[in-house]
Amino acid sequence: MAKGADNRVFGKRAPQHVLILASGEKIRHMTIRPWMAALTFCFVAVFAIGYLAATSYLVIRDDLIGATMARQARMQHDYEDRISALRAQLDRITSRQLLDQQVVEQKVEKLLEQQDALFSRHGKLGSLLNRAEESGLTSPETPASPTLQAPTSERQASLSGGSGGLNAIDKLLSGENSATPLQATTALGYTPLRENVADRADRVFSKVTLSLKNIEKEQLAKITNLTSGAADTADAITAILRRTGVDVASAAIKPQVEPTGVGGPYVAPITNITAFDASLDELDSQLSRLEKVRETARELPFGNPAPGHEITSRYGNRIDPFLGRLALHAGIDFQAETGQDVKATGAGKVISAGVAAGYGNMVEIDHGQGITTRYGHMSKILVKEGDAIEAGDIIGRAGSTGRSTGPHVHYEVRRNGDPIDPIHFLNAGMKLTTYLN
Ligand SMILES: [Zn+2]
Repeated sequence: MAKGADNRVFGKRAPQHVLILASGEKIRHMTIRPWMAALTFCFVAVFAIGYLAATSYLVIRDDLIGATMARQARMQHDYEDRISALRAQLDRITSRQLLDQQVVEQKVEKLLEQQDALFSRHGKLGSLLNRAEESGLTSPETPASPTLQAPTSERQASLSGGSGGLNAIDKLLSGENSATPLQATTALGYTPLRENVADRADRVFSKVTLSLKNIEKEQLAKITNLTSGAADTADAITAILRRTGVDVASAAIKPQVEPTGVGGPYVAPITNITAFDASLDELDSQLSRLEKVRETARELPFGNPAPGHEITSRYGNRIDPFLGRLALHAGIDFQAETGQDVKATGAGKVISAGVAAGYGNMVEIDHGQGITTRYGHMSKILVKEGDAIEAGDIIGRAGSTGRSTGPHVHYEVRRNGDPIDPIHFLNAGMKLTTYLN
């Protein structure tokens, strides 16, 4: 208390507060000092602040929770968006791959179809080429296209239908990087360092397709050449036959289809199988036509009954050596020695073999198409009626039987029984030798 009484810091003596507690006989007292008051005040203040804080927390808690939840929902939403975007991207990639795969599968299918087609036409083309070769037709070597200069062996194989071409395809498909010129050309171009499977497949497929197209083009060029060759030969033979006055009404001689090969060797780029097959059919029909025309020409009397012997009397009106007046000489006389071979001038069937008035020993051969030949004045006949005769067969020996002044071969050609000048057939026969094997 003395200390308190002496406290004059603020220049005024603060009154002392005393707390008196009476309990029965005992009385206690305690002086309330300023620090005690301050402490109490602090406690009260802290409590009050805590109470206020708790209350306000209770009040705004819902808002806080709501805000947090909203934030979380937003985040979740964002994540979901992200996930769906990724999923969509994944789907796109997957579908792209699926699409690529489908494209590749389609291309493989197409290639297999083309391979099948090549195989199937291989047989047809092979037999046609054999026929063309037998007909003596040759196709000039088609110049290799600048885009594909296949090795010679490959090209030759491809011309004959294509097992070699297929080998080339296999090589391409296996991705073998042998230095074929084809690969060399692409190697010169820009090749990306990294290419995915689809791109690579695409590249291989385009190469294979190109290769197939070139094979097809070469085959087609060869077929076109052969077709036009066959058509030209058939036309030439037909023209010669017509000039002899032979009634070439048979369908074999008339072109059934206007030969497409004649009039410019334009080779249209072929894209489908039917066009190729059409060209094969065309070659087939032209070869058939040529064969038939040749057959007809071989049957007709284009040969010489006495080869190497000169003509002593021509066809036409002349003074008859027996009658001494103008008469038709219905054939050609060849100078000949007795016993010399007399040859059939064409294939046919003997319809008469024996003595005939005026002709002496005479043989008559039917060649079809209304054409017959007669060989007269022979000393000996070596065939009999009904014999089948080939061109050049010896049918008898020369002589001077019948109305003859000396040994010679009297040769007649008749159409439907009427005599015609054999010289036309002899001339035509000389021209035909280049067209008949
Ligand atoms: Zn005569």
